[in-house]
Amino acid sequence: MTGVIGFLPESVLAFAYLIAGILFIQGLRDMTHPRTAIRGNKISSLGMAVAVGVTMLWFEILSPLVLLAALVVGTGVGTWLAITVETTEMPQLVGLFNGFGGGASALVAGAELIDLFNQEGAGALGADLTAAAAVAGIIGAITFWGSLVAAGKLHGVVNDSAVRYTGEQVVKAIVLLTALAGSAFLVVQPDLFGAAPLAGWIPAYWFIVAAASVLGVLLVIPIGGADMPVVVALLNSYSGLAAATTGFVLNNTALIIAGTLVGASGLILTVIMCNSMNRSLTNVLFGGWGEEAESEEMEDIYEGQIMSTSPEEVEMLLDTAQRVVIVPGYGMAVAQAQHAVAELADLLDENDVDVEFGIHPVAGRMPGHMNVLLAEADVSYERMRELEEVNPTFSQTDVVIVTGANDVVNPKANTDDSSPIAGMPVLNVSDARTVIVNKRSLSPGFSGIPNPLFAEDNTNMLFGDAKDSMQELVNQYEENH
Ligand code: NDP
Repeated sequence: MTGVIGFLPESVLAFAYLIAGILFIQGLRDMTHPRTAIRGNKISSLGMAVAVGVTMLWFEILSPLVLLAALVVGTGVGTWLAITVETTEMPQLVGLFNGFGGGASALVAGAELIDLFNQEGAGALGADLTAAAAVAGIIGAITFWGSLVAAGKLHGVVNDSAVRYTGEQVVKAIVLLTALAGSAFLVVQPDLFGAAPLAGWIPAYWFIVAAASVLGVLLVIPIGGADMPVVVALLNSYSGLAAATTGFVLNNTALIIAGTLVGASGLILTVIMCNSMNRSLTNVLFGGWGEEAESEEMEDIYEGQIMSTSPEEVEMLLDTAQRVVIVPGYGMAVAQAQHAVAELADLLDENDVDVEFGIHPVAGRMPGHMNVLLAEADVSYERMRELEEVNPTFSQTDVVIVTGANDVVNPKANTDDSSPIAGMPVLNVSDARTVIVNKRSLSPGFSGIPNPLFAEDNTNMLFGDAKDSMQELVNQYEENH
């Protein structure tokens, strides 16, 4: 810590960081429920504003002009992204944010190390400081490059299949050992091979960062695009760890608290996503869906078995229904059909039909994706039922409308042990009297496998875009009621 403004006691800084930490924790707590999530976001942002503001006032980090320019550019880009990016593109945006967080941690830790060396010599670089810097450099660089690859795969600009090659693990081990060897030098001999320019060459710290950057790419490239949302959650956790270790390098309590919270919450999210898909983290990281090709022909399942229906026929079914469950999925988000779906639910409710939403924990492309979209269309949280709650009720349900969902209602998860989704908990919609599946075709969902639900006796396919189909259904229902 350099250039402390001396007119206030240091306890004021510590107190401000404590307040920021409390705001982060309260914000995270609020974010655990969709109803309080927006407030949680605001509280956490306030915490960050307190932490950044007090840090700016306390330390002479940059000239005010440079800092102001950085804040204007950052705020501008952030606002533009928040306005223009679709909710279906959130996973790759979150991926990019993680990457920038990791990259920033690696850069700041390195800059602080070199600054200290230049000002106070190698004697100022204790083992605790160099070790923390090396860890921040390694995790930060892995996070930056891994996240760029993950975001690229999700956005379709990087090959989203699992890229495997002979000796893959050996190559990764060699690169990791190189980064660790560089770190060991940095800790043991900071004067020889440490932050000092090595005979006018690159300082050792950047050598470690370069090796970790290669490792970041090598770690994510072999994972299929289908597993990327889980990888993004894990990298989110890494970005927090990188920030926390950079906090140790800078001796900055706010960064240590914020980084630790991000690290822990990212890990919890990763575990929730793995559990909801019945996958282990090892399976995600070292092989799984991306690699496996489903050999079974869709025609074998669907041929002669598919019954299609129309909005008029569905409206007639709804006319006699007493209980209806709507199951949304990724396609509802793509079509932005949540408003039409909410309108349909309101109409049914007005006509004394018991109507609820059955929401699978990984429906869509992010946990909570469906809840957020439906809440945006003013669907009350009381109507949204989780998988465990809604599954026992399907046998007393007259009509289930599945709109834009596929894998989360695939019975193969229960019946076929060799299926890539075997064991994943699914919504057992076929227990209902009639199932309407609304999607544009018989194309598979995220996991790339056929869905026998479409061929079941009580299933009718309502082919079409989710928004158009739901709107037509609303129009039909309004006309007749
Ligand atoms: P799926 O990806 O299984 O299926 C979505 C379906 O939506 C497609 O089959 C597609 O069929 C249909 N669709 C696309 N566009 C439209 C449109 N405009 N109108 C109507 N339908 C449309 O989605 P689910 O939500 O059922 O399942 C989510 C999947 O994502 C699961 O496999 C889950 O494991 C995975 N996943 C989710 C994560 C999460 O956190 N939520 C994280 C990681 C993975 P068609 O083209 O015929 O219209």
